[in-house]
Amino acid sequence: MSSPPFLAARARFSHARVLIVGVGGLGCPAAQLLGAAGIGQVTLVDPDRMSLSNLHRQLLFDEQDLDKAKAVVAAKKLSGLFAATRFVPLPVTIDESNAPSLIAAHDWVVDATDGWDTKLWLHDLALYHERPVSHAGAMGWQGQALTALPNIPGCLRCVAHFPDAEEDASCQQAGIIPGVVQLLGARLAAEVVAGLTGHEEALLVRKVLHVDAYRMRIRVVPFAPDPNCRVCGVGARLAPARPAESV
Ligand SMILES: [Zn+2]
Repeated sequence: MSSPPFLAARARFSHARVLIVGVGGLGCPAAQLLGAAGIGQVTLVDPDRMSLSNLHRQLLFDEQDLDKAKAVVAAKKLSGLFAATRFVPLPVTIDESNAPSLIAAHDWVVDATDGWDTKLWLHDLALYHERPVSHAGAMGWQGQALTALPNIPGCLRCVAHFPDAEEDASCQQAGIIPGVVQLLGARLAAEVVAGLTGHEEALLVRKVLHVDAYRMRIRVVPFAPDPNCRVCGVGARLAPARPAESV
């Protein structure tokens, strides 16, 4: 299969712009590694302020950062570490009013949010605006990651079970083991690097990375695209539905 145009173009890192939505356990390591890789611009979107309960898994921050805007603090710290990368903080909620223009202004979307409502909405919107999107999610000792490419069948929606709102909320209260999000955040950065350098065979496209840190099992499971998928199926071009809540 020939490479999609956006991969064939092999955007140079120094000109690449990556949108990271969520500057938490997943977004922090992803942003660090993209800075280390020399990505031209990394935009960090997160409306939250640092709280004590975040510190154990968001290693970019310390107690001096409590109550400060995470996106702003992260951009400042990362700018000091990686001078070649422009870190742009956006301490706002991503929603219908700003998401389309934000997505369109970037080459790659990284979903480092929590909550399935937001994840699915962001995923759908990125593909609708023809941007690749790398997803990761974690709960407890487990997590998963995959990448979906625009106009190529095989996306997050094709992969079965999503928890309903009640189940999702109870899972979030269960907490996250820090090492799991570190691992998956690193994989998010690797997906971007692979994609921007044209190594599409290295991408988690039509396959899901499953991490079980309790049993120390890591599996990559291929899946077949759903021909009736509402996002990537034949003829699917519906504008994404509004989420119940956004980051
Ligand atoms: Zn799909």
